[in-house]
Amino acid sequence: MTQPFDIAVVGGGMVGASLAVALAPLGLKVALVEAIAHDSVSQPSFDERTTALSNASRRILETLGVWPGVQSLATPIRKIHVSDQGRFGFARIDAAEQGLTAMGYVVPNRALGVALWSRLQASANVRVYCPAEVSRVTADERAVTLEIAGPSTTARIDTKLVVGADGVQSAVRSAFGVDAESRDYEQTAVITTVLPQRFHDHVAYERFTGSGPLALLPLEGGRCTLVLTLSRATVESAMAWSDVEFLAELQRRFGFRLGRFLKVGRRVSYPLSLTRAARTSAGRCVIVGNAAQGLHPVAGMGFNLGLRDVACLAELIAERRHESHFDAGAASLLAAYDAWRAADRGGVIAFTDGLVRMFANPLSVVQRLRNIGLLAFDLLPPAKAALSRLSTGAGGGGRTRIPKLARGVALQ
Ligand SMILES: Cc1cc2nc3c(=O)[nH]c(=O)nc-3n(C[C@H](O)[C@H](O)[C@H](O)COP(=O)(O)OP(=O)(O)OC[C@H]3O[C@@H](n4cnc5c(N)ncnc54)[C@H](O)[C@@H]3O)c2cc1C
Repeated sequence: MTQPFDIAVVGGGMVGASLAVALAPLGLKVALVEAIAHDSVSQPSFDERTTALSNASRRILETLGVWPGVQSLATPIRKIHVSDQGRFGFARIDAAEQGLTAMGYVVPNRALGVALWSRLQASANVRVYCPAEVSRVTADERAVTLEIAGPSTTARIDTKLVVGADGVQSAVRSAFGVDAESRDYEQTAVITTVLPQRFHDHVAYERFTGSGPLALLPLEGGRCTLVLTLSRATVESAMAWSDVEFLAELQRRFGFRLGRFLKVGRRVSYPLSLTRAARTSAGRCVIVGNAAQGLHPVAGMGFNLGLRDVACLAELIAERRHESHFDAGAASLLAAYDAWRAADRGGVIAFTDGLVRMFANPLSVVQRLRNIGLLAFDLLPPAKAALSRLSTGAGGGGRTRIPKLARGVALQ
């Protein structure tokens, strides 16, 4: 039998699960289809990584009731320190100078998975299909039919709106004929945890090196998450380095600001590329999170941007749900979503991509400019305030409306 729904979210990773939590109290019929259980070792979204959350993301998670589930594992970032290996320029941003308690928070992805999915499991309005995938999509002007298959489930559902939250390789995006442009950065991020001799003092370090950026984010227990970007050519040998060799190489790249690096955890690698969907909606489909834009992690903005996709889409649906002929997939709703997201999305993609390209540029004139740039940035309060606004994740620039969830206003 075919089950009727208002909204079907395909992909229950960081962004899709957040959207399902945001839609749960709206009194609509919502389905969530996820291929891999949130607590499975092979879950690609809730894995060993940590995520740097902006203040806006924290507020969205607080308003959704998810923050209490991760708070005890969240480490505040009080300062950001940006430097360029082998150059004297560096820049600092201090939360206190910007009138903030923190620039953001570092949270383990697995903790986010537990918090989001326990909210979902407590909700009667979200029907979860997991583990299961969409095996067929048929759409007409009035609805979309999804055939769903899993090891112990087969189902057929009719929905007014499909949300593609199924990651960079989005099958939903392809089913709706939306092209995606992809550019390989020919870099790989190696992620691990390190223990430095000195306490990190809640400083997040971003250091640009010859092979790509290196980030150290503060964690509980004096440890740091390391995101070490390496050229494709070096990554294979780097994964095979002994712990001692790895720590020595890290020390050479980062220097001694945190004293000696004493310990390193398990290393995991992620090839890096930019993927950008040509549109954020098509027919009765909206594309969010990594399915719409997969970014280089250099500025830690991918999930923060995806969470703003969630906040805007949920707000538009909440505003219209009392209309007499409410249709979650109405063309006017999707057009309003596309228009609302365009500036924030375009700005963050351009900022992140520009940063990767500028710091990968070997031309000495560019190197001198970026050196001057970092120094000038450190001396210029308006530039700091602008980056601080970007990293605190208000999003979209001056004239874009900030979604309610990011202002702490619930959608009910
Ligand atoms: C190394 C690294 C570090 C990062 N650090 C940060 C950071 O500090 N801050 C930040 O904001 N962002 C960061 N990001 C980006 C962030 O991880 C992504 O933006 C985020 O994971 C996007 O979530 P998503 O749910 O859109 O996609 P994904 O995480 O890719 O999740 C997609 C989900 O869809 C499911 N799925 C896929 N196909 C199907 C299907 N056919 N049917 C059903 N389910 C399906 C998958 O199982 C998965 O659960 C980082 C990324 C990387 C690679």
